[in-house]
Amino acid sequence: MKMICGNWKMNKSRSEVVSYFDTFKALLGSQDQALIAVPYVYLEEARRICSGTSIIIAAQNVHQQTSGAFTGEVSLAMLKDIGIDWTLIGHSERRQYFNETNEAVALKLEACVSAGVHAIVCIGETLGQREAGKTFAVLSEQLAPLYASLGRCPRVVVAYEPVWAIGTGKTATTEQAQEVHAWIRTQLKEKGILTSTLLYGGSVTPQNSGALLSQPDIDGALVGGASLKPADFFEIVRCAR
Ligand code: PEP
Repeated sequence: MKMICGNWKMNKSRSEVVSYFDTFKALLGSQDQALIAVPYVYLEEARRICSGTSIIIAAQNVHQQTSGAFTGEVSLAMLKDIGIDWTLIGHSERRQYFNETNEAVALKLEACVSAGVHAIVCIGETLGQREAGKTFAVLSEQLAPLYASLGRCPRVVVAYEPVWAIGTGKTATTEQAQEVHAWIRTQLKEKGILTSTLLYGGSVTPQNSGALLSQPDIDGALVGGASLKPADFFEIVRCAR
């Protein structure tokens, strides 16, 4: 079964959260599974609404420190306190707009492993980097500080999200995505990480998800825009059956 994770980013109101799950839960078949990364303020309510279902509610980010003077941040202990044990880390929007470095993402991953929270670690190159032929060099730099912690993860989940494909409507071709996924898998194996779940993210839609998910090294999808509408997101979840 492929793994499908939605990322709502900074979207939705409280009442929209409730109506979304009313619709989504009714669509979901008994064999379907999905994760959805929701804004912090809705985590607890979303988790409550989805308890007893196969929907896992995840955070979109977490801070690497356990507590202290980090105004505006949220710790792993706080997430666990409200029953959240999955989070995205290193999303390209965090790297781009909040200056998260490869080293900061590595600290977050290490903190997740120590706290027993599952992380979906996002990596990906920009358009300029791809056009300059630097895709694999950039991904190598992003992965390098992560290996030690990835080796300790009970479940290794890496999302390859080419930055030029996120929210742009430009999806990587199935060949481009498969090529990078196979390369990531090889890198992980060379570091002794023999089992991994590799998600593709970047303008995944109900129309292109079938082709992407049929690639041998694409184990799932991280879905932004198309996860905002329950019917669209459900169509992608259905492709994972
Ligand atoms: C994302 O938010 O990780 C993402 C891939 O967004 P979109 O599907 O909108 O490109």
